Amino acid sequence: MDAEIIASGTELLMGETQDTNSSFLSSHLPSVGLQVRKITIIGDDFQEYSEALHKAWEKSSFVFTTGGLGPTKDDLTREAIADLVNEKPSVNEEQLKILKRFFSARNSDMPDTNIKQSWLIPSSTAIRNPNGTAPGWWVEKNNKFVIAMPGPPRELYPMWENEIKPKLLSLLDNEVVMTRSYKTIGLSEARIDEMASPILGSENPYVGIYAKEDGIHIRAIAKAKDQNKALDILKNIDNKVEHIFGSYVWGTDDELPEESLLKLLLSKKKTLGLMESCTAGTIANKITNIDGSSNSLHGGLVSYSDATKIQFGINEDSITKFTSISEQVCREMAIKAKDIFNADYGIATTGIAGNQQIEDIIPGTVFIGIADNSKVKVSKHLFPSNNRNAVKNRASTMAILSLIDFISENI
Ligand code: AMP
Ligand code: MG
Repeated sequence: MDAEIIASGTELLMGETQDTNSSFLSSHLPSVGLQVRKITIIGDDFQEYSEALHKAWEKSSFVFTTGGLGPTKDDLTREAIADLVNEKPSVNEEQLKILKRFFSARNSDMPDTNIKQSWLIPSSTAIRNPNGTAPGWWVEKNNKFVIAMPGPPRELYPMWENEIKPKLLSLLDNEVVMTRSYKTIGLSEARIDEMASPILGSENPYVGIYAKEDGIHIRAIAKAKDQNKALDILKNIDNKVEHIFGSYVWGTDDELPEESLLKLLLSKKKTLGLMESCTAGTIANKITNIDGSSNSLHGGLVSYSDATKIQFGINEDSITKFTSISEQVCREMAIKAKDIFNADYGIATTGIAGNQQIEDIIPGTVFIGIADNSKVKVSKHLFPSNNRNAVKNRASTMAILSLIDFISENI
């Protein structure tokens, strides 16, 4: 069944806020059997809103809106929907009570402007929003639906998961589509294609291979009558992928390399030290964004200048002979990263994040070193970009993946 999304908010048109709500919804709607045919972004303008709603309502069975449920004059979703179905909004006592309770729980009085957040129309029911003041609207008329959700993602995501998705699942008897991505490290795209041949080529699940920033992904798309059956198909693929690729798969779906690494380190009770030059703390930052990282990360050093490298034990002769952006220096740094922090593994990075060539080394060149107590592995990469931050980001992701690869190889 067809669905459309209307995202409203002038900030979306100004490029100040990215329309992540539409991406979120369009990636989740297929799992309840709805196919998104169009996404429209409009500003806080009644005329534009009204026009977009009328068009979407005419063409699609389900219209999802995000934003415009706030208390202020530029929040026009309720007004536009009421106009669409030709009904008049009025204060709903039950919703008003919930709203007042929300404010009194925070020891503040409810401003009069918020009253419109307790409005309903005869065709709408309120959708619970424990994370904010604006309830959503579930509107059903002539077998068509408008589902209005608040703009803030931290309100919209749980509202989708806890309120809207279950309701749609029980309402719709459509084929559902579910996907899973398996993220790999250590194999070329061609090799993955070759190895995946037993699972490639079928209609359902459809399996594809995609190169992404954090490595090559194998993606399975399963279609079935309901979610459980689609999950069964994915489970079957899980087993086949595990059998074919084993530890070459470091994570699935939204899992981050740093999450996978920390899980791996924790399960093996191993620890980590860092000596970062060109990534300048980016690896430490990524890892410490994950809860519980202090169980595994002992510490990190940003050894940016040659003098600091030497101060922390890198051989001055190696730097003179090979320069600090070299396999040899990276090797020494990886060992020091491990030893300085008394850890099981060390990660080191050295390279050029900017776009100035140093001697004959091309900008974007990064050496990544991984060490444990018995060996050291150094790899050379090229991350060409005019943006220093992008180089640091890609190099630190690759460094984290390299350690996952190193540990997996040595199991
Ligand atoms: P609103 O419900 O329109 O008042 O939106 C409140 C806030 O939610 C905005 O200031 C944005 O920060 C955020 N927001 C609104 N629409 C979106 C969207 N489509 N994607 C991501 N964030 C949004
Ligand atoms: Mg708004």
